Amino acid sequence: MRTWQHLIDGSWVAGVQGRTFKTVNPATGAHLADVAEGTAEDVDLAVGAACRAFEQSDWATDPEARAVALRRVADGLIRRQADFVAIEVEDTGLPISQAKGQAARAASNFTFFAEMATRMTGETYPQPGRFLNYTVRRPVGVAGLITPWNTPLMLESWKVAPCLASGNTCVLKPAEWSPLSAVLLGEVITEAGVPDGVFNIVHGFGETAGAPLVVHPQVPLISFTGETSTGQSIIRAGAERLKRFSMELGGKSPVVVFSDADQERALDAVVFGVYSLNGERCTAGSRVLIEDRIYPQFVERLARRVAAIRVGDPSDARTEVGPLIHPEHLGRVQGYLAAARQEGATVLVGGERPPGLEKGNFLTPALITEVRPNMRIVQEEVFGPVLVAMPFHGEEEALALANSVRYGLAGYVWTNDLTRAHRFAQALHAGMVWVNSQNVRDLRTPFGGAKDSGIGREGGHYSFDFYTETTSVQVALGPHAIPKFGADPV
Ligand code: NAD
Repeated sequence: MRTWQHLIDGSWVAGVQGRTFKTVNPATGAHLADVAEGTAEDVDLAVGAACRAFEQSDWATDPEARAVALRRVADGLIRRQADFVAIEVEDTGLPISQAKGQAARAASNFTFFAEMATRMTGETYPQPGRFLNYTVRRPVGVAGLITPWNTPLMLESWKVAPCLASGNTCVLKPAEWSPLSAVLLGEVITEAGVPDGVFNIVHGFGETAGAPLVVHPQVPLISFTGETSTGQSIIRAGAERLKRFSMELGGKSPVVVFSDADQERALDAVVFGVYSLNGERCTAGSRVLIEDRIYPQFVERLARRVAAIRVGDPSDARTEVGPLIHPEHLGRVQGYLAAARQEGATVLVGGERPPGLEKGNFLTPALITEVRPNMRIVQEEVFGPVLVAMPFHGEEEALALANSVRYGLAGYVWTNDLTRAHRFAQALHAGMVWVNSQNVRDLRTPFGGAKDSGIGREGGHYSFDFYTETTSVQVALGPHAIPKFGADPV
């Protein structure tokens, strides 16, 4: 069986300590591959290579060359899309139809940021005849990119593309439960002619490979996507060296359905928004708040739809929900269902192992009702195919319920009242709000969360705020008053 290795300085290498770990197919439990297990020594080698590439190659100073190389990466992703999809399905359990969409989006990220590489402009602040002030943006150096196991390829592209487009070099630490597509991405990046050392990968566990990257003295930037609690410990670990962090963290996003909404479309969006990507989606609308006068009939229709979702083999094109990533995660999601029952909620649909799927981490999509706002199932991120439904009476209560959790990543509003739609969208405590829409995002718009869902925004030109340093330059265009201290001794 092939051992999937680290990518350091343009070469595929085993870990210094020679250790490996297993990755497992979540649909079957089968041993899929052995992967090099990185430690601080591997991180140090990768950071060293990234530093040399930053200082000695033209990567940081030639945006046109970066644009050309990143376009080639996008082409490579498109050319090898079938390989990416196959590996992503096996390694993550994502249904194949959705894995295809994620692979296409990864390619779009590279195409988009290839274009952005040449748009890394500054601003001018002229004072005619007296001063010219302007800003220049320059890359910062080596970025540590740490990613989670859900939709790994797409999330890696979301960090790697803007990081490289801005002229930085990087070390990627993929998640240990789904590390394989990163290797294919490394192959594509290498084949695209990106100079050795610009893009490096160190596999391994959070505590032993992620943590050394966070504290490494030559890594000034850390872009992290993962759980809020991990983000907190990463910030604590990096505080000593005043690292710059981008934090994309957890969510418990509300979908608010008013009675005047197009209920058919709202129903489609609610179901897709929480159960797609196996429910392992940061922007999942995992709490549906339904206006009380339509609550009974909406929930009845919702229950019928949820019960009819096709759960099964992720490589089957008709499958809508596949297995959860790992037995440990399945146990965690089941723990939330048990806690919900214990606190008095009703698991109206699902939450069971589907008949006929005895192996793998399968769970039927769950719909939970009869909840109170302070229950754990309402407050905490489950990160699985679990939806909580709650009634509300009036806009004020809807808003209070929507904002009553610690997270603030996304929000979704369904109403045909124009003024209410805008009023509500602006009052939601969320980094991103969709009105009468499912989660469709233009790559130019800012992505990120409020409250405990994150710090900072990435996407479009917002990525430059994180991945570049801004220098403000003041130039005198002629003489101006300069106080003459010491020029006139008494
Ligand atoms: P996680 O926090 O357990 O792990 C994420 C990554 O961090 C992994 O690569 C892991 O190895 C690494 N890591 C763990 N401990 C570390 C440490 N001490 N130092 C450095 N690295 C460390 O998250 P997960 O379980 O892989 O992913 C699920 C979470 O990710 C959910 O909370 C989800 O909402 C969140 N997520 C957020 C977004 C977003 O954009 N806001 C997108 C996707 C997922």
